[in-house]
Amino acid sequence: MRQVIIIGSGPAGYTAAIYAARANLSPLVIASSVEAGGELMNTTEVENFPGFPEAIMGPDLMAKMQEQAERFGAEVVYDDVVSLDVSGAVKTVTLGSGKVHEADAVVYATGSAPRKIGIEGEARLSGRGVSYCATCDGFFFRDRVIAVVGGGDSAMEEATFLTKFASKVYIIHRRGELRASKIMQQRAERNEKIEFVWNSAIVDILGEEAVTGVVLEDTVDGSRRELALSGVFVAIGNDPRTHLVHGVLDLTDAGTVWVDGRSSRTSVPGVFAAGDVIDPTYRQAVTAAGSGTVAALDVEHYLAALGEAGAPADDASEIDALPTV
Ligand code: NAP
Repeated sequence: MRQVIIIGSGPAGYTAAIYAARANLSPLVIASSVEAGGELMNTTEVENFPGFPEAIMGPDLMAKMQEQAERFGAEVVYDDVVSLDVSGAVKTVTLGSGKVHEADAVVYATGSAPRKIGIEGEARLSGRGVSYCATCDGFFFRDRVIAVVGGGDSAMEEATFLTKFASKVYIIHRRGELRASKIMQQRAERNEKIEFVWNSAIVDILGEEAVTGVVLEDTVDGSRRELALSGVFVAIGNDPRTHLVHGVLDLTDAGTVWVDGRSSRTSVPGVFAAGDVIDPTYRQAVTAAGSGTVAALDVEHYLAALGEAGAPADDASEIDALPTV
């Protein structure tokens, strides 16, 4: 049996692993079979992670975090959690391979998944012109006209990146002003290949075998028009990945896992949560990393108290209520 299992391998998961490993808790990190490293694996240059003044590529940053966690004794498994039983003192984590792991504590750091527009053509043409990852699929759109949907930092970043390949990139945004930070906005505005399409919502994506265009609805006057293009990159934010814990952990109105104040303690004793899955607001790599730190420290205190008390399962709630650092 393990002391702690960390589910997720983004900045929150790996930072929790670094701290837990340095505290001699020999953490097991369930990194996912196809999404190991989390959202930063889909980004290009990360310019705002402290310590990298020249920027660092997202995948390189994640490789460094993993290396750091493993150096101190974390074990990483490339598999997916298919079910969790956290009702008792011993937590059970079942993987896609069928392997079952047990631990005293679990850190839930599953991050978030790209949000969908939710229109018919989107699902039908996903992978055939509709994409959620510019770094994965941008290459296929060399000299094509494409669009990025969204007005946040992700949309600006993706659009700017995609101008390396595409002949033209529309940024389609539902409002008349952007949500993105000033520096990202300015970079996009200065790019001659980018054209903004304001106050417009995509209501249909056209094409049989591949995307041929979109139907736009003006969000001010309701009028509709078609725009010919061959790719749609959706960058409208992310939703927390809580599918494993519905009905298990309390969630907030924003859909994130509920935690107690500034701690990582969830509604279930011995289960801690960190990163994007608890954060409806900031969702930065560095805040996720900080959140992973909090989780590892909370786990450390929980396990220390558990050890001192020799507490049975039902007493764990009292231990969980102990103040942390
Ligand atoms: P975001 O900031 O939540 O922005 C989402 C954008 O998509 C908003 O402009 C929103 O429109 C639009 N949107 C949401 N739902 C929509 C829908 N159903 N249909 C059409 N448009 C929709 O998400 P994000 O850009 O992914 O950024 C998430 C976090 O990561 C932010 O904190 C951001 O700063 C951070 N981030 C940072 C960097 C960086 O610093 N390099 C890069 C990427 C992301 P409204 O504006 O009208 O709400």
